[in-house]
Amino acid sequence: MTDSIQKTDDFVFQTYLRQGSAPFVKGEGTRLTDSEGKTYIDFLAGIAVCNLGHCHPRITRAIEKQASTLVHVSNLFYTRPQADLAQALVENSFARRVFFANSGAEANEGAIKLARRFFQVKGDTQRHKIITMEQSFHGRTMATLSATGQDKIKDGFYPLLEGFIHVPFNDLDALKNAMDDTVCAVMLEPVQGEGGVIPADQGYLEQVRALCDETGTLLIFDEIQTGMGRCGTLFAHQAYEVFPDIMTLAKALANGFPIGAVLATKEAAKGFGPGSHGSTFGGTPLATAAALEALSLICDPDFLARVIETGDYFKEKLGELRDRHERVKEIRGKGLLIGMEIDEKAGAVVDACFKKGFIINGIQDKVLRFAPPLIVEKTEIDQLAAVLDSLL
Ligand SMILES: *Cc1c(COP(=O)(O)O)cnc(C)c1O
Repeated sequence: MTDSIQKTDDFVFQTYLRQGSAPFVKGEGTRLTDSEGKTYIDFLAGIAVCNLGHCHPRITRAIEKQASTLVHVSNLFYTRPQADLAQALVENSFARRVFFANSGAEANEGAIKLARRFFQVKGDTQRHKIITMEQSFHGRTMATLSATGQDKIKDGFYPLLEGFIHVPFNDLDALKNAMDDTVCAVMLEPVQGEGGVIPADQGYLEQVRALCDETGTLLIFDEIQTGMGRCGTLFAHQAYEVFPDIMTLAKALANGFPIGAVLATKEAAKGFGPGSHGSTFGGTPLATAAALEALSLICDPDFLARVIETGDYFKEKLGELRDRHERVKEIRGKGLLIGMEIDEKAGAVVDACFKKGFIINGIQDKVLRFAPPLIVEKTEIDQLAAVLDSLL
């Protein structure tokens, strides 16, 4: 099986730094197994994707059933799973319309296009700029990396798309200063994920909404990482009780099957008329059947309540580490999207955890990110905490 590693290194673009000396061969719940039979407890869930755990039997069954019935027909035709998923998303959110894409970047690309076109079709042609946040992450396509507020993502890709302004996150004055009548939208993550697990302040988010209302600007929430129960509510903004005009989803939407979505109010959705946007694969019966099953499991209030409870327990455990170890600077996050800032490179801790059979993730140099399957058990959290305790 070192074969897999050799071949990957020889034949796959070298865009990723990979961990491990054996490929993963199996996933079940919170556990991953490699080709040497070593099992790991997964506190990353494929980067906040497998929220219901690996190979959840009901998702597997939904995929198997749909795969043997109808996989793809294109959006020139109607299909039942796409209709059912759109209805379920609308009934569980602020939105009235859904556009289906295949990834997070593609969903954000759609949201950016929608915001611009919303004003263009109204004849307000100078309103095209989008304000996003420093440290934000919105994807790797040209538009979404232009939207992203991190230089390292943009390195080597200039010239970027015009019309993106970046302001500091959680800073209302900075946003107000950047706002003028050429701005069509403000776009942000309710909890910045890749940027270091940084939640928006309650008052800030409320005032951003108020500012957008005052100025007639569209508010876009990128919930690609924070959505699907990750933060303890189906969508993170629901806990803030601050609602966007447009929201993007992807990552956990189908628990690992690729899919993205743009959700919008009836008004904002007017930006896209027939022929204005599209995707061959967007919303296939297979992807939407998987997502429908995932959504029906996650939007159960008991399931979401347990995410909050487990998240609180996790933060409490990490808080004990902070009290005991100088090197732990801060614990932050919502639900089961948790960051622990330390005073050294995260990479060494991530590698040491991996050796001991725990998958965690390091971001922004010094932040450990935890995004386990939402079904994670307290005993598994205890085990990870003990390992971190010994490492710190
Ligand atoms: C992962 C992520 C994206 C990009 O999603 P891809 O599916 O990798 O294109 C965009 N925004 C946020 C907040 C993300 O976490």
